[in-house]
Amino acid sequence: MSKNLYQDKEWKEMRKRRLKGACEICQSTDRLSLHHRKRCYKLRTMIAHLAHEAVGSPSFSIEAVLSLQAYVRAHYQELKEVALPLLEAQREYYMSGLDTVTLCISCHYKVEHGMMQLPPELDAHLGDT
Ligand SMILES: [Zn+2]
Repeated sequence: MSKNLYQDKEWKEMRKRRLKGACEICQSTDRLSLHHRKRCYKLRTMIAHLAHEAVGSPSFSIEAVLSLQAYVRAHYQELKEVALPLLEAQREYYMSGLDTVTLCISCHYKVEHGMMQLPPELDAHLGDT
């Protein structure tokens, strides 16, 4: 995500509004941060996703990966044109702070690395404002 002053300010204000006083999993107050429950993609990942949808190959064989790469090379510009508005929409979503939970540094690390799942009650209100 590109950094600029306006975005930083927007982000900080949203963070201040959204961040709760304690971790929503363990109630710790150690280095709290906002965790987005929906993953956001970078351009490369978004393009890979779109190519994957277009090629429709569910397998991870070498052949499938090579044909996916060939597809991306052949259709890069078209894929990018589709991806950019999606990234813009994603940016707005990201900056809105919707679907975020407050996590302490320890829980955030564990959730990000798949060592811990968000408790169902935190997943349940996805989409709330
Ligand atoms: Zn925690």
